[in-house]
Amino acid sequence: MPVIFLGHGSPMNAIEDNDFRRSWQALGKRLPRPKAILCISAHWETRGVYVTASEHPETIHDFYGFPKALFDVHYRAPGSPALAHRVAELLTGVRVHQDAGRGLDHGVWSVLGPMYPEADIPVVQLSLSILQPGAWHYDLAKALAPLREEGVLIVGSGNIVHNLRLFRFNDPKPLDWAVRFDEDIAERISQRHHEGLLGYETLGPDALLSIPTPEHYLPLLYVLALQNDDDAVSFFNEQVLGSIAMRSVVIG
Ligand code: ZN
Repeated sequence: MPVIFLGHGSPMNAIEDNDFRRSWQALGKRLPRPKAILCISAHWETRGVYVTASEHPETIHDFYGFPKALFDVHYRAPGSPALAHRVAELLTGVRVHQDAGRGLDHGVWSVLGPMYPEADIPVVQLSLSILQPGAWHYDLAKALAPLREEGVLIVGSGNIVHNLRLFRFNDPKPLDWAVRFDEDIAERISQRHHEGLLGYETLGPDALLSIPTPEHYLPLLYVLALQNDDDAVSFFNEQVLGSIAMRSVVIG
């Protein structure tokens, strides 16, 4: 199975007919059909590691100020307690908490809805243990590698550049530092220089502006960690909207 990182951007991409949503629809048709999906989204930050373990995870509307149409979206994909347990079995170095009460946040359903509108593929979400450094997440993710052979599609959902404080809604023209940082990260991904990507805090002033908080960046590290030597890497949605980069990555 390939591994993918999706820049998710605004929750409105879940329902608006735009390039991003269309790209996710096309991706869902192009990829081999997975048996299940494991998603690591920017929007589930925890202390410790959790997986969703419900048979029927609810749709979480974790945002404010959006139209009712977005709150009306319910992505009714089944969960998979079996996959949640498999994740715990693979992540031997940490305690993985099975969370039967947690649903799927918009980082998950805003991209999987367009990709798999039938909602007939089981979905499990893995949380981000947010106090841990980049290298810790990268190492943790490596242990998930057998899932690729087991037909599980692993999806990281975030944004490589994500600074909402500096986002100007009335003028989303790409900011210079955002473009520079996005291109720098893309170059490192292409060259497979993962090490520099783990200590993202040390990448200079553009990094501090691009990653003011780590939650939208860290899902990328889970995806990169699962790259095999013979995997091809490709990008799509390479647009920068103001201070948000939509760049997405397909590995394998
Ligand atoms: Zn987000």
